[in-house]
Amino acid sequence: NLHNKICNMKYSVLADVYERLEKESSKLKKTDILSELLLQTPAELLPKVVLLATGKVFPAYSELKTGVASKMMIKAIMRATGVHEKDILQKFKELGDLGSVAEWCIKEKKQVALFKKELTVELVYRDLQSLATLTGSGSQERKLDLIAELLVSATPKEARYIVRTILETLRIGVAEGIVRDAIAKSFGVDPKLVENAWFWRPDYGEIARIAKEEGEEGLKKVRIELGKPIMVMLGEKAPTLKDALEEFERCILEYKYDGARTCIHKKGKKIWLFTRRLEDITAQFPDLVKLAKEGIIVDECIVEGETIGINPKTGEPIPFQQLSRRIQRKYDVAKMAEEIPVRIYLFDILYINGKSIVHKPLKERRDILEKSIRTIPGKFELSKALITKDIKEAEKFYKDALKAKQEGLMIKNLDAPYQPGRRVGYMLKVKPTMEPLDLVIIGAEWGTGKRAKWLGSYVLGCRDPDTGRFLSCGMLGTGLTDEQFQEMTNKLKPLIIKEEGRTVKVRPEIVVEVGYEEIQKSPHYESGYALRFPRLIRERTMEKSAEEADTIERVKNLFESQSKVK
Ligand code: AMP
Repeated sequence: NLHNKICNMKYSVLADVYERLEKESSKLKKTDILSELLLQTPAELLPKVVLLATGKVFPAYSELKTGVASKMMIKAIMRATGVHEKDILQKFKELGDLGSVAEWCIKEKKQVALFKKELTVELVYRDLQSLATLTGSGSQERKLDLIAELLVSATPKEARYIVRTILETLRIGVAEGIVRDAIAKSFGVDPKLVENAWFWRPDYGEIARIAKEEGEEGLKKVRIELGKPIMVMLGEKAPTLKDALEEFERCILEYKYDGARTCIHKKGKKIWLFTRRLEDITAQFPDLVKLAKEGIIVDECIVEGETIGINPKTGEPIPFQQLSRRIQRKYDVAKMAEEIPVRIYLFDILYINGKSIVHKPLKERRDILEKSIRTIPGKFELSKALITKDIKEAEKFYKDALKAKQEGLMIKNLDAPYQPGRRVGYMLKVKPTMEPLDLVIIGAEWGTGKRAKWLGSYVLGCRDPDTGRFLSCGMLGTGLTDEQFQEMTNKLKPLIIKEEGRTVKVRPEIVVEVGYEEIQKSPHYESGYALRFPRLIRERTMEKSAEEADTIERVKNLFESQSKVK
């Protein structure tokens, strides 16, 4: 009976919700709509419905992608509806979105399909998932079949949203905050508890299920677990070293390394490695796994550190950009480990032998960390640290860090617990440069002359957390080498969602760290601000998702703080 109920939730229910969400711009009303949906969803189906309702097929940390581009989608629509390619392309030009094109085609199509079945959430979800797992020879053809079959059974409205979900262009403005509030509303629990539980288990589907079945008590019980990634604690920028020192009664200063934040989980002989974006990178770093097995001398623990890449010839640290190649690479892993060996600097411990210790003050955690590992020089070390409140000593330490080619210092409150997910001010960073922005590429322009084969100028967007949309705030065209233009073009091409003359719109996925000279008010950009002389520092897509990019609020604050200085 229960099984039937689960399998019977119709996809049309979801399609109706999408339509209402799309039309609604008020955040509160969106929350209400989503909350109604969650209330009528059986607990077992909540994880899937929550994912789908936010336009996703996989959780943020999954490496899986549906891997379907516009071209294949056009073929699938042709196959399902019998509409001619020429007409589809014409409509595509007109409407600018293949979801609406599919909807139109199904309305147009005269003959009734023989094998039409009613679509359920379960069935659509299963098919969308299998798109990602189909690989190898013949997989393209099978993907086509799968999509076409779905479309044959879909109503026009359902088709609109199935297509957009597959292409990952379902933009209905349901950001994380709305999901959090909707869960809170549906199940009568405190949104703060929902969020905090999510920091420890960053999967709103799972959190929704817990809220429904176990209420606030269940949410409070969500703890860090071995083998599951968490949202790590974030740092804030301090204006000067002196300010940072004055912030805390007792503090520890640590080198700030330019690498990849890494959580190592150990359970007996088993090791997991996670990034701050929750990706499981255990398979890519067998060398780090080996080091962890040798270096960690307790049975079970979760430790955190910064992994940096080393130039095997000189022994010098290499830029994060190069290390990130190892994170992305799924094959030739052993060869990559030889080319780019790594070293880790550990700075925290969150769990030891069956117990979470996140509530303990940093001083205690650092002591426990030091006793839990055996350092392996040049390979598996503790972050270089100094406990002081003396500005002279601190300044010398800061200079040493910069001389050692590190980014600067982290200054941490020795009396603070570990608070995941939020910038709570327990750790501050001090860096010599003006704080760059992490922005998302939302559009681009084909170059001219010698650069005609490249997408040359990139439209930068900052995030509007209320709508989940990205607002333009500048154009980036400098700071890239020819190779980088080429690489960026390769990355952006599959993300193109609209093309008009020389300009293109792209799916907001590529995150770049951008330096600039100043922020000005500007009516030419959607955000109302323009970066002056923006230049690329590096790509950050591996560390930050578009949802974590800097917000319009931050751009505004930076704009205001610079006017104060002047
Ligand atoms: P940011 O990415 O600029 O916000 O700076 C925070 C990041 O600095 C963290 O996510 C870590 O990856 C990195 N980091 C480098 N060294 C340390 C350290 N000693 N303690 C904490 N974080 C560090």
